[in-house]
Amino acid sequence: GSEKRRDMKDTLPVSGTQRVRVLLPLPLAGAYDYRVPPQLDIHPGDFVTVSLNQRPIIGVVWDPTEEPEATPVADHRLKPVTAILPAPRMTVSLRRFIDWVAAYTLSPPGAVLRMAMGSTAALEPPTQQAGWVLAGAGSNRQPRMTPERQRVMAVMEPGRVYAGAPLAEAAGVSLGVLRGMADNGLIRPALLPHASRFNRPDPEHPGPKLGGAQAEAAARLVAKVATRQFGVTLLTGVTGSGKTEVYLDAVAEALRHGRQALVLLPEIALSAQWLERFKARFGVAPALWHSEVTPRTRRDTWRAVAEGEAPVVVGARSALFLPFPDLGLIIVDEEHETAFKQEDGVVYNARDMAVVRARMAHAACVLVSATPSLESLTNAESGRYEALNLPERHGGASLPAVETIDLRRTPPERGRFLSPPLIEAVTATLERGEQAMLFLNRRGYAPLTLCRHCGHRMRCPNCTAWLVEHRARRQLQCHHCGHSEAPPAECPECGTANSLVAVGPGVERVLEEAAAHWPEARRLVMASDTLPGPAAAGMAAQQIQDREVDLIIGTQIVAKGWHFPHLTLVGVVDADLGLAGGDLRAAERTVQLLHQVAGRAGRAEAPGRVLLQSFSPEHPVMQALISGDLDAFMAEEAAIRRPGHWPPFGRLAALIVSSEDEREADRTARDLGLAAPGGEGVQVLGPAPAPLALLRGRHRRRLLLKTRREVAVQPILRDWLARVPVPGSVRVQVDVDPVSF
Ligand code: ADP
Ligand code: ZN
Repeated sequence: GSEKRRDMKDTLPVSGTQRVRVLLPLPLAGAYDYRVPPQLDIHPGDFVTVSLNQRPIIGVVWDPTEEPEATPVADHRLKPVTAILPAPRMTVSLRRFIDWVAAYTLSPPGAVLRMAMGSTAALEPPTQQAGWVLAGAGSNRQPRMTPERQRVMAVMEPGRVYAGAPLAEAAGVSLGVLRGMADNGLIRPALLPHASRFNRPDPEHPGPKLGGAQAEAAARLVAKVATRQFGVTLLTGVTGSGKTEVYLDAVAEALRHGRQALVLLPEIALSAQWLERFKARFGVAPALWHSEVTPRTRRDTWRAVAEGEAPVVVGARSALFLPFPDLGLIIVDEEHETAFKQEDGVVYNARDMAVVRARMAHAACVLVSATPSLESLTNAESGRYEALNLPERHGGASLPAVETIDLRRTPPERGRFLSPPLIEAVTATLERGEQAMLFLNRRGYAPLTLCRHCGHRMRCPNCTAWLVEHRARRQLQCHHCGHSEAPPAECPECGTANSLVAVGPGVERVLEEAAAHWPEARRLVMASDTLPGPAAAGMAAQQIQDREVDLIIGTQIVAKGWHFPHLTLVGVVDADLGLAGGDLRAAERTVQLLHQVAGRAGRAEAPGRVLLQSFSPEHPVMQALISGDLDAFMAEEAAIRRPGHWPPFGRLAALIVSSEDEREADRTARDLGLAAPGGEGVQVLGPAPAPLALLRGRHRRRLLLKTRREVAVQPILRDWLARVPVPGSVRVQVDVDPVSF
């Protein structure tokens, strides 16, 4: 039906035009015009080679528009398109998505295209494994149809790639006939599909039998996917309630319809553990897309996705830009995660863009979380999203009991960080032969090093940040710019020897304290620097599952999606950590993170216990965690944000003005402030120092544009930026929907 028609539209030639618009994967203002040589049969979405500044570059034929080029070039001076590459065309839905993301984030479309091209190596002309594919309708010329050619055409199905020799044999012609047909534009070279790198998951492979609420939710999702229409569902339920099993049923349904499915996970959750789950459900592994994937696999995966050979992709946020020809379902697991926000280059939130991509692909979108964001909850409440909830843990497991430890009443020993009640609880857990975890969201040994004599603090030369001591590596490191130096023997300020002391805890220091208390326990640190990447994290998780570890000490990477069946105690070393600072979203984020961490404890076999060390146990965040009533907490959050039109009840965009020259940054920020837009429901806050006022040697100022929900911020931002001249040494970065404010 409508699918077919869309595809047809996609293959209409740009007939009658001499010019064609080509978008290049570069941060340029827009698409450029090129001349179409008569022998080329060009369509929107074709990958082509053109030349830019005397160099060949690969771009994509973009759609003709009414608007002229920014700087039109006379016909006779236009450079030609040099070649069409034998890659599957970029679909109209992906082209519209790229345009949409560019417009929404105020990024150059070419910068978004670059994310969508993955690796241009995938587009190089095939050297081996080349085959032939029907060129499709639309050629203006009428090549001579000999009986031999007709036989070849009769054998070939549209869109399928044939190896030369078997094709010639099947049609009873020589290979020369095929070459002649290619010269005449009847067929074109294309890469043969990869033999079996990407296995087809079997939707009928037997999965676990779903329980009552699970079965109901799965049926709803399956029905949604079956409509082949856009729609968003918010799937919630405590950790362990079986959300993953439920959404895998929706994946199966997409497969039954012959459509592709994309599962987005926060990078680190792309673990062997998750993949095992997938394999258990479908019999084979999905295609993977994340930062650790090798260039070769990237290339093959990109191709396989484009050719429909990879039916399911599991990936980090950038997988959203893969060239799916027929995407039927997008799952965003842990949808509340800020890891879905890309903060540099094109600043976008993959969770939000997933909804847009799904709309353009006429696909279902499922947002999944035990602790959904206030954005998604609000959308569910207003009826924009369908809400599904799994109220109980699978198999009747109970939720862990959460308690606070008041650090004012039972403080740790001087210079230590574990309080007596926490030490006692860990000891008892280990004695029972169960696993315990100490959670502290801070890498390294100590967040601050200061001189005992003069009070000097070791700070990063490039950032507004303290240097974090990493004792095992004998380094002081900046966690923002990567600067590192050896710890000095004497204070750089007053010259006193051996006067520098570590202040505050990081996981390394907690490990040291744990080693002193529990020398016999087998300890493991899980942090992004000790376990770089999904594979390493997955191996650590396996060790924990296999009970090769007694005590886990971890940062936020332990919070995400793991199943540790023998873990019964979680101690949060500093539950107040995320609440410092003026960020309006700090409470929401802290509740989400600590609830996720707490969810690691306790399974059907053994109930779990969670202890939160806090200086303010009466804080609403601690109370919400104790009661487990996150809905009530989120309702409170909503009540705080609604009157002031803070997101999600209003819109927000940040302008980050930065320069190596502090005065220039200040001047531009002030000029932007003076030119600030106003009007009904529009407000500008700032300029003020940005949260990191100095980052990588650049001074940063921030202005916040806050509007009512019904106001579109993009036109306001465009107009505002157009009115203020920005010197070359100053950069103004636009962040629509910033994660913190
Ligand atoms: P969530 O995603 O909500 O945290 P999961 O889907 O990961 O929950 O399920 C938690 C655990 O329970 C997993 O180990 C999973 O394999 C198991 N599980 C969930 N549903 C079922 C089921 N219907 N039958 C058997 N095991 C299940
Ligand atoms: Zn730094």
